[in-house]
Amino acid sequence: MGDMTATNARRVLLAAPRGYCAGVDRAVIAVEKALEQYGAPIYVRHEIVHNKYVVQTLEKKGAIFVETTDEVPEGSIVMFSAHGVAPVVHEEAAERKLATIDATCPLVTKVHKEAVRYAKDDFDILLIGHEGHEEVIGTTGEAPEHITLVDGPQDVDKVEVRDPSRVVWLSQTTLSVDETMETVDRLKTKFPLLVSPPSDDICYATQNRQIAVKQMGAEADLVIVVGSQNSSNSKRLVEVALGAGARDAHLVDYAKEIDEAWLEGVSTVGVTSGASVPEVLVEEVLEWLSQRGFEDVEIVKAAEESITFSLPKELRRDLRAEASSLVED
Ligand code: SF4
Repeated sequence: MGDMTATNARRVLLAAPRGYCAGVDRAVIAVEKALEQYGAPIYVRHEIVHNKYVVQTLEKKGAIFVETTDEVPEGSIVMFSAHGVAPVVHEEAAERKLATIDATCPLVTKVHKEAVRYAKDDFDILLIGHEGHEEVIGTTGEAPEHITLVDGPQDVDKVEVRDPSRVVWLSQTTLSVDETMETVDRLKTKFPLLVSPPSDDICYATQNRQIAVKQMGAEADLVIVVGSQNSSNSKRLVEVALGAGARDAHLVDYAKEIDEAWLEGVSTVGVTSGASVPEVLVEEVLEWLSQRGFEDVEIVKAAEESITFSLPKELRRDLRAEASSLVED
């Protein structure tokens, strides 16, 4: 437990906003509602959101997570994750006569639509994103002939296009804003006529969580980001915290993963969580810290968020039908 005389100096800076974004909230509720509406099992293609706890909790309730639609028995219900899918996945599901519920975040769908539109206008699309990430695979699938992945500033040198006067950049929704701007600057140096997307592709939730962690980073000796290793936006929060001046920063799924040694010589701990992380996991971290003398919690507020998304349309339709049949009964 260390030297208790130093207790007074110990404090926690808690980022706001943190945790669930509107797209994750909607996707998780969609699985829960689908389980209630249609009964278990509900198949979900890919982790509905990139969080271990969420996936395990939904599994206990009857969700079965698969990586490809051919793992889903014909005639079953399959939900697509918040990260979005390529059109070919919709086709495969139709071939297997699966009933689909699409929980793709509307802000990812927006990027898909941009990709389709620029491809139709015969642009080369430079998609800034992380290779192999589910969202990037889905977006690329909208226009594979037109899209080139640019995985960070170091990738710019090798990018080639057909016509430098018809090039646009788009991005994954959960990138580091600063790193993406660096990539864009380099791309613009190489292709001065590069067109920018009509609106931000990096979503509001990713941006706000980064602004908050930046504010606390300069003051924190240690920043704990709650989130899973495969969560892009959570990993970015660790990088942004370090970039903002935090001495140390770590990503943990659970409080029990925090190493006591990280607290050595630490008086200010910043805490935040990725967009796929339920608040209960943050509460456990705060509890863990309070047991070690970090009881004083100060909120670092960077933005208000009030955005919500309605449930996937297939689910709304069936819930409405159910409600009206109950009225008729
Ligand atoms: S992080 Fe952004 S794009 Fe991803 S689900 Fe949340 S709101 Fe949608």
